[in-house]
Amino acid sequence: MSFLAAGSPAPDFSLTAVVSKRSISPSNIPGQLLLIFHGYQAAALVGQTIRNIRHVYPDPRQLLIASVADMRIVPRLLRGMAEKIMRDAYHQAAARGATAVHRLRLQVGEMSGVETDLLRSAYETFSDRSICADAVLEIVPVPVRWGCPACGTEVAAGNALRCAGCGGPARLTAGDELVLERIEMEVPDV
Ligand SMILES: [Zn+2]
Repeated sequence: MSFLAAGSPAPDFSLTAVVSKRSISPSNIPGQLLLIFHGYQAAALVGQTIRNIRHVYPDPRQLLIASVADMRIVPRLLRGMAEKIMRDAYHQAAARGATAVHRLRLQVGEMSGVETDLLRSAYETFSDRSICADAVLEIVPVPVRWGCPACGTEVAAGNALRCAGCGGPARLTAGDELVLERIEMEVPDV
């Protein structure tokens, strides 16, 4: 590992924001750049630190702050899920011209395979400095339900998973979903 002497120009590099896809490099920022490298568990602490720095340097043209999170230990699947939630919220907020997102409500099925604590950590990392930075993530568990695709009869879980009406095999009708059910956002008066 080598270190640059203080005051020497930074080497060229480029970082792409996870959600906005905005690219940051020393050549395309107008002022100074502060990079904060951290693990994903520190996302909340880093978010608070950045808000504190923003009080002193409110103008991003003067000081641009980017948090660079190490996501290697977050399972790839969860990373993808958190990224998709953020992208959906971002597009819905952008389409409505929202200035802030206050709350996201997510349906997570009991059999979706999603570890909700890890998903929350991944979300906090991805939402940092995005339009969802202060949005509460509400996770609504969805119980497992089975039904008969042939006649529509509901089949009680734990039974033989055969339809009592026609004897056909049951299929999962709920409990494997991961759905962004509701977004509460602030839309300016027009
Ligand atoms: Zn049936």
